[in-house]
Amino acid sequence: MNRISKYITQITVGISNCYLVEGNDGLSLIDAGGPNNAERIVKCINQAGYDLHSLKRILITHAHSDHYGSLTELQQRTGAEVWAHELDALVIEGHQVQDSVSQEGFNVIDRFLFNIGASDVPSCTVHRKLKSVEAIPEVLEGLEVVHLPGHTVGQIGFWLPRESLLIGGDVMMNIMGRLTQPFKAFTPNPVESRKSIVKASKLQLETLALGHGPVIEKHADRRIAKLVTKLNSPTNPTLLETPS
Ligand SMILES: [Zn+2]
Ligand SMILES: [Zn+2]
Repeated sequence: MNRISKYITQITVGISNCYLVEGNDGLSLIDAGGPNNAERIVKCINQAGYDLHSLKRILITHAHSDHYGSLTELQQRTGAEVWAHELDALVIEGHQVQDSVSQEGFNVIDRFLFNIGASDVPSCTVHRKLKSVEAIPEVLEGLEVVHLPGHTVGQIGFWLPRESLLIGGDVMMNIMGRLTQPFKAFTPNPVESRKSIVKASKLQLETLALGHGPVIEKHADRRIAKLVTKLNSPTNPTLLETPS
């Protein structure tokens, strides 16, 4: 467990990160890990000094199995509400599947990842369907929803302007010391995904907390600006907008 701000603690389970947020109106969890991670997450909640039933809500950045794989079990054990963007809520509730990914231009790694595929996840009721722009002071005073589509249609981040901090799901990945676009194999709309990275670059972030890899605690804006420049190179003609 890694405390990344006065109110927010990172929990890493398997390959994915979740975040515990301690607000005035109780404890919230952002993302619910992959399948079979519930016990580990419960232990972390206890280690943070909380009883299981203090968890009031579970927010999901996006409906991929490595981020909501243990949602149903955690919801049942804690009685917490589930909040997600209205578009990815359709997937979480089992009404839709995620958009499919075109395999055009895949390299060996993309193909490998694509073939591993996503696991089946039991569907779960979403109690509050979030809009693309919304203040959520119940979770933490000053926290806002930011829509970051492309990796999924309903991916959202949670932005805390007063700390220049974003919990960004898979809008980018910070793997092996490199900040990159999310894996092609799981990103049906790469153009939208790049626009979402540009959007994040405009938030002037100090801290970037993603779904995979360590938190970038200082000068995240510089790292993101570098990535945007790279994506904007002639070999990446699909980036349609430049950062201001
Ligand atoms: Zn994802
Ligand atoms: Zn992920």
